[in-house]
Amino acid sequence: MVFKPRQPVEVQDQPVQHLTVKADSAGRVLVEVLDHVVPREADRPVALHEPEIGELEERHVLDCLRSGWVSSVGSFVGNFESALCDITGASFAIATASGTAALHLALHSAGVRPGDEVIIPALTFVATANAVSHCGATPHFVDSDEMTLGLDPVVLNDRLSRVAVSDGNVVINRETGRKISAVVPMHTFGLVSQITQLMEIADSFGIPVIEDAAEAVGSTIGDRHCGRFGKAGMLSFNGNKIITTGNGGAILTDDEELSALARHLSTTAKVKHPWRFDHDRVGWNYRLPNLNAALGCAQLARLPEFLTRKRALHDSYKAEIGRDTRFELVEEVNGSRSNYWLNAVRVKDNTDEQRESMLELLHASGYLCRPAWTLMHRLPMYETAPRGDLHTAELLERELICLPSGPRLSP
Ligand SMILES: *Cc1c(COP(=O)(O)O)cnc(C)c1O
Repeated sequence: MVFKPRQPVEVQDQPVQHLTVKADSAGRVLVEVLDHVVPREADRPVALHEPEIGELEERHVLDCLRSGWVSSVGSFVGNFESALCDITGASFAIATASGTAALHLALHSAGVRPGDEVIIPALTFVATANAVSHCGATPHFVDSDEMTLGLDPVVLNDRLSRVAVSDGNVVINRETGRKISAVVPMHTFGLVSQITQLMEIADSFGIPVIEDAAEAVGSTIGDRHCGRFGKAGMLSFNGNKIITTGNGGAILTDDEELSALARHLSTTAKVKHPWRFDHDRVGWNYRLPNLNAALGCAQLARLPEFLTRKRALHDSYKAEIGRDTRFELVEEVNGSRSNYWLNAVRVKDNTDEQRESMLELLHASGYLCRPAWTLMHRLPMYETAPRGDLHTAELLERELICLPSGPRLSP
């Protein structure tokens, strides 16, 4: 028996009611595709992504409640971290209260400090940029490539060649005078970015890589899991991600020192002692609670099943969308395996206005589709941040529409 949540996960996802829409024909074609692939139930719209919670989840959470260990200490947290190490091949996993907390902590533990600069894609969820800001650093936006929707290695190389100067052991942006202390590639919608090339370029400039693999649990290239290429990587288990702990995240790393520091800082930097409250640094309360880890253990056990169903849903979209040359379903690149967390379609030559009217029609038709994110450099807090040319990210912003992709929707 599958427990169905009574409400869509995000309340702002309510459909637009009684809307008169002058939609273009591309929008109507997309509604037809959705009518075939993920037909609406009579009384409720199709959400972009909902978690699937079943009996295993109920059992684990109930066990946790009955144990009384619901907070930052308990056996589910350790089990969850071990399972993450098994699945990803990481030597160390540190479970955190959110993906944003994981990224903040990973960046800090890797040495990102106030006044530094960190290179990230402009096409990302705001948490990537915010984690940089929480370190007191400034994000520096670089363009994405059309194939993987991730940081473009050629553009990164050009950008660093133009602005980076080496000063002893540190790399300085000659235009801003700030230290460039990390590069953060992000694996968009579960597609694997060109991580091998990005690693080579960052290495050649001597800048550490921290991967934002928030959306990429279960995504691999060769036999390597996303988040396993850089000095550290992070995952998210938010309610809309491929598996959920309610809210949560994790840092993955092989670096024992980084792992020990991140773990220590995530638990208020408390020095182990049976009764004394001794803390040796300014730490955070970023540990994943045991109650959330209980849910995570159950969800992680079901990851293979979710991945199979996501791929089947992707194949159905592909069969329907492939017929129309105005659309291009975003697909994994040879050699990599996407978790297909979110299916995204590119509507060729779309303008901002056309994208908005398509989304209006889709919502009015009961399909809670979404655009890609508003690019980071358009947000008021990041308008003045340094950036390179972003024309591909701007094209993708106009053209991408994310389609309903929850695990329950598979054929
Ligand atoms: C979800 C997400 C995060 C942050 O995760 P939270 O668990 O929501 O804090 C970071 N980066 C990207 C790209 C994400 O999609």
